[in-house]
Amino acid sequence: MGIEPENSSREALARIERDVANLKDALGLLGAKPCSICGKFYLRSNPGDLLKAGGYYVCYGCFSSWWSDLCPKLPIRDREAIEHSLTRWLIDHHHAAVFREFSELPSRELQDVHIVVRCHECKGSGKQYGSERCRSCLGNGTVWVVTLKKQ
Ligand SMILES: [Zn+2]
Ligand SMILES: [Zn+2]
Repeated sequence: MGIEPENSSREALARIERDVANLKDALGLLGAKPCSICGKFYLRSNPGDLLKAGGYYVCYGCFSSWWSDLCPKLPIRDREAIEHSLTRWLIDHHHAAVFREFSELPSRELQDVHIVVRCHECKGSGKQYGSERCRSCLGNGTVWVVTLKKQ
């Protein structure tokens, strides 16, 4: 008679694991990278698909929850470096807009990504040239980076 059912399912599992490992290798050779959060693969030739920051690769779909988890755990210095690159990524690839005033924000239902980052111009101090109020953040030291939901 054939193989024990238990054995065959274990073999099937081992085969699947081997197949998956081979596929991952192949995708890597093609220049694809998985999102560190959801594991979905993206081609690196599309820089808008995956953000590379702080040792993570994060897709747009995972971005908001990833950042709200990670952000409070980061030391200020690391946070600034990452904030700068993720702001650029959101602006360059996801049409993000930077807002200086709360009243200018689009209504909440229209917003997708909504994060608060330190102002890059004044490094969060809210001041410029010594004592002048920073024009980039209106003296708040932070700005909002917001993307709109895709229709
Ligand atoms: Zn993802
Ligand atoms: Zn500023």
